[in-house]
Amino acid sequence: MFFTVAAFIFGLLVGSFLNVCIYRLPRGQSIVAPPSHCPACGKTLTFIELIPVISFLWQRGRCRRCKTKISWRYLCLELLTGLLFVILYRHFGWPDVLWQAAFYSVLVVIFFIDLDYRLIPNPLVLVLLLLTVAVQFIVRPNSLVEALAGGVLGGGLFLLLAVLSKGGMGGGDIKLMAVLGLWFGWQQALLLIFLAFLSGGSLALLLLFLKKKKRKDAVPFGPFLVLSALIVSMWGEQIIAWYLRFSGLS
Ligand SMILES: [Zn+2]
Repeated sequence: MFFTVAAFIFGLLVGSFLNVCIYRLPRGQSIVAPPSHCPACGKTLTFIELIPVISFLWQRGRCRRCKTKISWRYLCLELLTGLLFVILYRHFGWPDVLWQAAFYSVLVVIFFIDLDYRLIPNPLVLVLLLLTVAVQFIVRPNSLVEALAGGVLGGGLFLLLAVLSKGGMGGGDIKLMAVLGLWFGWQQALLLIFLAFLSGGSLALLLLFLKKKKRKDAVPFGPFLVLSALIVSMWGEQIIAWYLRFSGLS
């Protein structure tokens, strides 16, 4: 119980930092300097204004100086990251939770930036790549071939789709999928791609049906890749085992 609570609190703190990344990276600002400040009046935030969740509730969601409303999304993202860290800790345990949490922290940032800007910044994909290579070499040295096959499969398939659809698939999606393939290995990468197209395609059709979007409007694909990655991390092995049994392949 103690470690679950610790994972939650640590997740809240990391979530607070992820908020900064999501706000600043697309604006081309540094994520370390200057210190956090109110975007409306520029007031530098002090320690008591930086406590995740509590500061927001204490200040009733407003800046202490200029009273400008602070978006609920900051609070939600902190809670979401706290919850995510608990889920990862319960599922993977110690010490795997360390690199899983790092991996998903980057993916949370990618999720929201792609949602807002339809953009997956290269530095984030690079951080994810370095982390993936390190984990594959240090933690899972026995599955390097499988990982490499996943990277080639994921990146190659998306590159092919980009060429065939004449730009329907962005460069960020291709690079992200290549790294996800490297992280998951080719089997789970296939499942991830299937889930992402299933969920992304369903939502696109639904929006088209509800006339919320025109056929030409692109739906950002990154968020679907991130959500599918989480599903594969949680239940990928079971789903693949079930599929192989069901189809008589094993
Ligand atoms: Zn302010």
